[in-house]
Amino acid sequence: MDLMEYQAKTVFAKHGVRTTVGEVVTTPEEARAAAEKIGGRVVVKAQVKTGGRGKAGGVKLASSPDEAEEKAREILGLDIKGHVVKILNIVPAAAIAEEYYFSFLVDRANRNYLCIASAAGGMEIEEVAHTNPEAVAKISIDPATGVDEAKAREIAVAAKYPEDVLDAVVPEIVKLYDVFIAEDASLVEVNPLVKLADGNVEALDGKVTLDENADFRHPEHAEFEDIAAADPLEAAAKAKGLNYVKLDGSVGIIGNGAGLVMSTLDVVAYAGEEFGGVKPANFLDIGGGASAEVMANGLEIIISDAQVESVFVNVFGGITACDAVANGIVQAFELLASRDEHVTKPLVVRLDGNNAEEGRRILDEAGLAGLERVDTMDGAAKRAAELAAK
Ligand code: GDP
Ligand code: MN
Repeated sequence: MDLMEYQAKTVFAKHGVRTTVGEVVTTPEEARAAAEKIGGRVVVKAQVKTGGRGKAGGVKLASSPDEAEEKAREILGLDIKGHVVKILNIVPAAAIAEEYYFSFLVDRANRNYLCIASAAGGMEIEEVAHTNPEAVAKISIDPATGVDEAKAREIAVAAKYPEDVLDAVVPEIVKLYDVFIAEDASLVEVNPLVKLADGNVEALDGKVTLDENADFRHPEHAEFEDIAAADPLEAAAKAKGLNYVKLDGSVGIIGNGAGLVMSTLDVVAYAGEEFGGVKPANFLDIGGGASAEVMANGLEIIISDAQVESVFVNVFGGITACDAVANGIVQAFELLASRDEHVTKPLVVRLDGNNAEEGRRILDEAGLAGLERVDTMDGAAKRAAELAAK
């Protein structure tokens, strides 16, 4: 989960990193009130989960509450790389002397943590790395020993941060590492990390990605979830514990196992070419169990997607045999009927693997309306695409 800048700075502040959280507002009037409360010059900052806000006109200085209101009016509704600005962060304008780049991230290739730091901050680090690679220091971090003061100093020197900021920057680096570890982040990026006119070092911007696999350790992270922005079907699926991703096409997909579902998406997209570019409507992995309830919940989500024209249930029986899955489908139809939600869209089912024969027999015997059985994956994908195109 990616955090917005004000959320990242809130997390920084919790761990003692020097930063200014400021005020969070959603209207020009609130921006004016925030500027009045703060006093003096303020910066009005778009809160969107993408970089380059400054360049896109999403970060503006205002010298009075009047001007803060005006800038807020300009920035709200702005489209920054496909993200529409709905939230603003109003902060006191900092007296910046220098801007640096700093980040901790997970280095998957080396099974390690990595720190990337540079005295050339404020601009896009990818560009600096391209034009002036020796200006960007990459320091690997041993997770077992972490970052103490000595390691932080080593990082600061490698980054070529000026001598006179070392004493101020070292404790901030130690605290940023604390954020990275304690919050189970996979990225903590500060661009720019600034030296202020008074010599202090502060995180002026913040980008944090939290590892959702560690959510169970952090009930407090739930407040960062952007429920409104999430797709409503994805939100409903998540509430039911389903592994669901909404896509743009018209063939609903249910499969067991992420690998099978991924290849199902490919096969459907390929088969769909013949029918004018029919595409999968979603990714949904019902996992190994495939109980009637999970099947019913999955079907419920998929048939409530208005874009769906047909559904392809692709199951390869393993530990959960096909007869169990077939019974699950039959019971799912009954369960949905009892919830007054009937399966009105054509369903193509392919069962293969463990106990496939028995599973097919169960489906045939049940004679569910709108359900067709096709026994090969390619054949079933083609039929589902054809039904969606009708
Ligand atoms: P980004 O463009 O999305 O990375 O947004 P940043 O928060 O990094 O802001 C972009 C640039 O605006 C920074 O590099 C600063 O130069 C400038 N800026 C941001 N906040 C302030 C501030 O409080 N005071 C001043 N003087 N400049 C700021
Ligand atoms: Mn930035």
